[in-house]
Amino acid sequence: MSINLKSLIPVLHAEWTGSDNDIFVDHISIDSRSLQNGSETLFIALSGVNNDAHLYIHELIAAGVQNFVVQYIPESCIGKANFLLVKNTLDALQELAAYYRNLFYFPIIGLTGSNGKTIVKEWLNFLLSPDYNIIRSPKSYNSQVGVPLSVIAINEKHNLGIFEAGISTVNEMIKLEKIIKPTIGVLTNIGSAHDEGFESPEQKINEKLLLFKESEVIIYQKNILVDQSLNLFCAQYPLKNRNLFSWSFTDTSANVFILKKENKGELTHIQYQYKGAVFSLEIPFSDSASVENAISSLLVLLYLNYDSETIQNRVQNLYPVQMRLEVKNGINNCSIIDDSYSSDFESLKIALDFLESQQKKNASKTIILSDIVQSGFSNEELYSKVAQLIADNKINRVIGIGTTISAFAAKFSNGITFQNKAEFIAQIEHLNFENETILIKGARSFQFEEIVSLLEEKTHETILEINLNSISHNLNYYKSKLASKVKLMVMVKAFGYGNGGLEIAKLLEHHKVDYLGVAFADEGISLKNGGIKLPIMVLNPESTSFPSIIQYNLEPEIYSVKGLKAFLKIAREKDLKDFPIHIKLDTGMHRLGFEENTLGELIETLKGNTTVKVKSVLSHLATSDEVKHYDFVISQINLFEELSSRLISALNINPIRHILNTSGISNFPDAQYNMVRLGIGLYGVSNDPAEQKYLENVGTLKSIISQVRTIPVGDSVGYGRRFMAEKETKIATIPIGYADGISRLWGNLVGYVVIKNQKAPIVGNVCMDMLMVDVSHIDCKEGDSVIIFGETPTVIEMAIALKTIPYEIMTSISQRVKRVFFR
Ligand SMILES: *Cc1c(COP(=O)(O)O)cnc(C)c1O
Repeated sequence: MSINLKSLIPVLHAEWTGSDNDIFVDHISIDSRSLQNGSETLFIALSGVNNDAHLYIHELIAAGVQNFVVQYIPESCIGKANFLLVKNTLDALQELAAYYRNLFYFPIIGLTGSNGKTIVKEWLNFLLSPDYNIIRSPKSYNSQVGVPLSVIAINEKHNLGIFEAGISTVNEMIKLEKIIKPTIGVLTNIGSAHDEGFESPEQKINEKLLLFKESEVIIYQKNILVDQSLNLFCAQYPLKNRNLFSWSFTDTSANVFILKKENKGELTHIQYQYKGAVFSLEIPFSDSASVENAISSLLVLLYLNYDSETIQNRVQNLYPVQMRLEVKNGINNCSIIDDSYSSDFESLKIALDFLESQQKKNASKTIILSDIVQSGFSNEELYSKVAQLIADNKINRVIGIGTTISAFAAKFSNGITFQNKAEFIAQIEHLNFENETILIKGARSFQFEEIVSLLEEKTHETILEINLNSISHNLNYYKSKLASKVKLMVMVKAFGYGNGGLEIAKLLEHHKVDYLGVAFADEGISLKNGGIKLPIMVLNPESTSFPSIIQYNLEPEIYSVKGLKAFLKIAREKDLKDFPIHIKLDTGMHRLGFEENTLGELIETLKGNTTVKVKSVLSHLATSDEVKHYDFVISQINLFEELSSRLISALNINPIRHILNTSGISNFPDAQYNMVRLGIGLYGVSNDPAEQKYLENVGTLKSIISQVRTIPVGDSVGYGRRFMAEKETKIATIPIGYADGISRLWGNLVGYVVIKNQKAPIVGNVCMDMLMVDVSHIDCKEGDSVIIFGETPTVIEMAIALKTIPYEIMTSISQRVKRVFFR
């Protein structure tokens, strides 16, 4: 793309401030952290409730970005760049995309539905790519922001588009429709996901159908609800040549009627009737969701007039779609970002941004990249662009695999190429992978999963999977509750409540939270060693740790005169000036803090001193989640107000004040002061059931079945023979026990695990490293996946059964359980 900026003035209803010359841009960005921002970038400053990209414009100008779409021009930036001033930058992004879309006339497939959008999109891309030059949404970029960004990537060489649209409430689809304007509409499975945003299933379907307002065909699975909605829709939005093209397992009036569906091991064989004839198709999956997605894809191929033989040939090679970017531990202290299933130019950009956000301190950045298929560019142009992108992202070494990328090896200044995967694997030992963050990105046909498994550290079977997207979601949820300018400290103590300290801190830094909080100096030191630059408050600094607190620029919470004097002594010896400290007041928790009667001495000690600077004054609520203690909390807040005000006026200082934890944020919004301290909520747990439904689950503890056996009536299971079989019972053994953090109280039929979506009660005592479950009713085998907690059972449910709180369950998961992060 290349857009003349001034041509956008009428499109965006913008006001222009800047150079008189014609200016062209070829890259749109909304991410201030992306290393891809440069002089040809048009940066659109989106402005969320608590995340305002306008704040980073001066940094971007310093980094060479010259063109911006803004809602206001920050004072320090006036005259320093070109600005398109608009009312609302999100609207502007969408208007820009809609304008851009209208410059192209080739067919566009638009997908929506509750499930299967991304899979059908990827499969259609695979099935149609022999015949078309396809542009598609990268990953699942299907939101109000993701859709415009996907569409803006179209260029002159493309001749087919495939875009997905996801909505969570009413009035969203109409905006996406203007941007995608699909000619071919596909409604995938309409399940119950995301129903909260809609009053009824009808409303949800009606809203989704709006994507197809101007589509020449709507492809869908027939059912009563959808048919009813479609009738209404067609009456409301009449269109002369609209086709409805349906399929069904049960309704013979569908255009494609599935006569037969038969499972054959890993395959499904179907027979379908179309235009009076009967055809067969083998689908290389056995689960019903995949079969439905394959049939949706089949209908698109039929609509595009493919013959049944071509369809069979291509469908038999369908593959499982990897939906997420995973970060794995690699050999020799490497980390691996596994994106081994796609290589197109747009998804490369996304993966490189992710690589940047995950890079660990002192680790260098490596990319292993296959030939890139389908870019819409000539090879010469494509590999120049790829080389530029890689240079912009400061990648330390590039390993290209494939004949095409090898032919363009000269373009990569720090590259080495191999004709094929086998040649690379033969050399892998000599490439000395060590202390690197490695992005592995390959087109499907290269099957780079083999490289991933060679470079991956071998782990034992039990893992705690951490969903980084859910953390971002929960963070944004709490951010949206904050008044403007209220800062956010996130508590990452106890290894991020058991979820992983450094990785989560990295993500929080990426999201530009203001502060991190840890319990002990060690925790802060390991974050600083990992490259975290955010200020870190240490809640419980022992005086022996003061020197290292100073050395690592951590910020101690000071809670007693004795501690203050000890810290001052060391700080003076080191001749420090204005070293940041935090003063903790005890307002009723009676754990740590200055009490009212020590305030005088505190003021005395601090008065006139220049060695330390009171960065913040805080207190902690003893109970912010129980209605019956409401009055007590108010008395704590009042006392905090009084004591902190006295301190502030006596010392004539202007510190940050903060008292709220997660439940405090929810229940005492008037006491946000200048900052809040978010803890458990970030990790997906609220103390309030009404609020819980807005949070996403973060951690899933998984294992596998080690062994399955059937025992006769009267036999027992495990230590102490606490389980006696009353009938013949099938028992599965899972390699996780109390040493991993599973309470013994969870055994003996109190608790359960989930296997194949079914509950398997824990029988007998939980052992140190193993537990046994009853799987008599479950069709399962050795190696099958087991969920210990996550969506079900939730840690909340476990906590109730075990008479404890979710905090304890989460932080008990031992460090020998590997954490795996993904998004
Ligand atoms: C742990 C902690 C928090 C966070 O509490 P949550 O209930 O997890 O939100 C806040 N402040 C202090 C002082 C803490 O120790």
